[in-house]
This record gives sequence, structure tokens and C-alpha cells, in this order.
Amino acid sequence: MNIHEYQAKAVLKEFGAPVSRGVPIFKPEEAEKAANELGGPIWVVKSQIHAGGRGKGKFKEAAAGEKGGVRLAKSVDEVKTFAREMLGNTLVTLQTGPAGKQVNRLYIEEGSEIEKEFYLSILVDRATSRIAFVVSTEGGMDIEEVAHNTPEKIKTFSVDPATGVMPHHGLTVAKALGLSGAAAKQATGLVAQLYAAFVAKDMAMLEINPLIVTKGGDLRVLDAKVSFDSNALYRHPEIVALRDETEEDPKEIEASKYDLAYIALDGTIGCMVNGAGLAMASLDIIQLYGESPANFLDVGGSASEEKVTAAFKIITADPKVKGILVNIFGGIMKCDVIARGVIAAVQAVGLQVPLVVRLEGTNVEEGKTIIRESGLNVIPADDLDDAAQKIVKAVREAR
Ligand code: GDP
Ligand code: MN
Repeated sequence: MNIHEYQAKAVLKEFGAPVSRGVPIFKPEEAEKAANELGGPIWVVKSQIHAGGRGKGKFKEAAAGEKGGVRLAKSVDEVKTFAREMLGNTLVTLQTGPAGKQVNRLYIEEGSEIEKEFYLSILVDRATSRIAFVVSTEGGMDIEEVAHNTPEKIKTFSVDPATGVMPHHGLTVAKALGLSGAAAKQATGLVAQLYAAFVAKDMAMLEINPLIVTKGGDLRVLDAKVSFDSNALYRHPEIVALRDETEEDPKEIEASKYDLAYIALDGTIGCMVNGAGLAMASLDIIQLYGESPANFLDVGGSASEEKVTAAFKIITADPKVKGILVNIFGGIMKCDVIARGVIAAVQAVGLQVPLVVRLEGTNVEEGKTIIRESGLNVIPADDLDDAAQKIVKAVREAR
């Protein structure tokens, strides 16, 4: 789960990390009060969307002006103007895709005087099974580009979970960033604070780009992007409360209500599969035969008829879907339950596209009989390969 920059900064502040003062706003009318509260003389007006690259982004609407999604304001009036221009309009950045994202919240922040910009992130390194830091002197830039062009400018190290973070980690960061004086001393504190926040809140990733040294010589977190491990959210109701559903795919939200593992993709073939491995194999084989999947969907090992019905409805409601492949290997999951779920869903929402069903395993004969006797226009398939070829063929013939 992702949160907005202003929410991430509030979380980091709880752990003592140095962030600027700021006020989130939702309506242009709130801009003046926020600006006066912060006092100036410089403010930053920051679009809050779940995507990076806002500074270099562009708004689609001419009314939003030429400047990007992060703007420096030199007066209260300018803060008000920017707020009016940005709120409600669509910001396109390298990370949003061409459709962009509507800006529904702004963060008005006290402006910092920047001496230098750095990059710092923390993530879970699967190779070492440890929490790792990534730091670079090349802040404010696209880190993938830095990694590609000048990998020597990126320093990484991991933290031994037995000892936790130690003062030497702070020294490593200070050295890698070439810090001196107060900022070098502050690095040790900051590294400890960020590590503590990361562990306590079960973060999956924490990215600070840029981390800055101010003209006054102090370290400050200028941008913050945080994502959390969804499997640990049950123990962080305070984080779940920060969820902004307008930033998420409505189909994925609906799927999460039924505890379905669903991810929307760009292709044309809707897939209902049980087990993540079989689901991945199904996506691959559809691709092999020349079409693309419209989604990843794992209905799980023990889905109820209700859950299967919900899954089928989510797939059919997607206008991109030009054909559906149901591929079930009944182990714990029973084929007759799947068959009843599919039929209940089709009866509720109809079926406008070809449907290929491949069932195998527990209660397979009962499942096949239910589908055959339903009178539905279902194309039966014998195995995974057969099923993929049939759905690809059906989708192409319908074009
Ligand atoms: P992003 O473009 O989505 O990564 O948004 P950032 O929060 O990183 O802001 C983009 C850029 O705006 C930063 O790299 C800074 O150069 C600049 N910026 C952000 N906040 C301030 C500030 O307080 N003062 C100044 N001078 N520049 C800022
Ligand atoms: Mn940034």
C-alpha cells in the first residue's frame, strides 16, 4: 500500500526525522490560511499523487499553467494562484503514464534553501534477507538513470538484524555523501530514525529523493515516498487509515473486498485462475500464443461460490476484456464450486465475450456436467495449452 508524501513525512516526523513544516489542503479556499500559518517568505506547493516525477510533470489542462506539479511560491497570493491552478487538474509525469492523475490534494510546505541534493532509500533486499540502504550523491534525479550511467555513484549496504542499525552506518552514509560538520553528525541520527520507522511500520520501501543539506548546513527530508508491506497492514490500523482509494484501480479495490489477489493489466483476455503459479503460467501461455492478459487473478485455494462470482463480475465489467479464460486446477478448490460460481455470475451480468473453461482435478466431472447442462455458450478445453489456443483463436475471430 502506498501513501502520499505529506502522510509519509508525518510518519517520519513521529520518529524524529527532520521534515519541513507543511499543511495539506483539499480546496483552493484553504490555501491562504495554510500559507499564512506557515509564514513564508518562500512556500512550496506540491501536488499529492501516488507517483513521482511531479516536479518535471506537466498538467494536461491549459488552465493549470505551464509550471510543473511542484512549484515555488514567493507570496501568499502566488500560493493561492497555484492552488487554484493545480487542484482538480490532471498531472502527467514519467510515472503516471500518459493518462496522468488528477490532483485532489496539495501539500503547502515551508520552502527550504537547498545547498545540495542527495538520494537515500531503504528497502528489503531479498538476496541478503536484510534491510538495505541505497545512497547517492546524485539527488533529485531519476535513480534508475544514475544506476545505469554512473553506478559508481551509488553506495549500498545492509543492516544486520541481530545488531540493528549502528553508528557506523551513519558514518558510511556521511562519507558516501561527502558530508561534513553538523550534517555529518546528523546523518547518524537520521539513519537510525529512518531505520526505526521502516521496521516499526513494516515498510516495504522508503525513498527520500532528495535528501538535502540546507544553506544553513542541516540535513532535511525534502521528498518522501513510502510503501508498506500489505501482509503486515493488519497490525497497523493507523496506516490503513491513510489509504487514498482514489489513487487505486477500482477493480483492484473491489477484488480486495473479496480477498482476491487481482492485478489489472493492459491486455484483452480476462483470466480466472487458482494458485499464483498456475496464474503466472496462464499469463505466459496467452502471451506465447500472441495475445495479452487483461489481468492477473488468483481466486485462491479455497474460494467460495460467492468469491468466484465476484471475481467473474470484476473481469466481465472490464471493457478491455474481449475473451475470458477460466483455468482451474481443483486440489482443495473443487471444480463444481467454480462451475456454480461462473454460472451464477453469468446469469447475473450476462456474457458478451467468448468464454473458455478448463477444469481439472477434484470433482471435475461434476463441474463439467454443471457447465454443459447450464446451456451457456462455453468453449470447453482439455489442458492449459489447448485452453490458451482456444481463447486466443476465439478473441481473434470476434475482432
Ligand atoms: P518529485 O518531482 O515528485 O520527485 O517531487 P520533489 O518533492 O522531489 O520535488 C521536486 C524538486 O523540487 C526537488 O528535487 C527540488 O529541486 C524542488 N523542491 C522541492 N521542495 C523544495 C524547497 O523547499 N525549496 C527549493 N528550493 N526547491 C524545492
Ligand atoms: Mn522527489
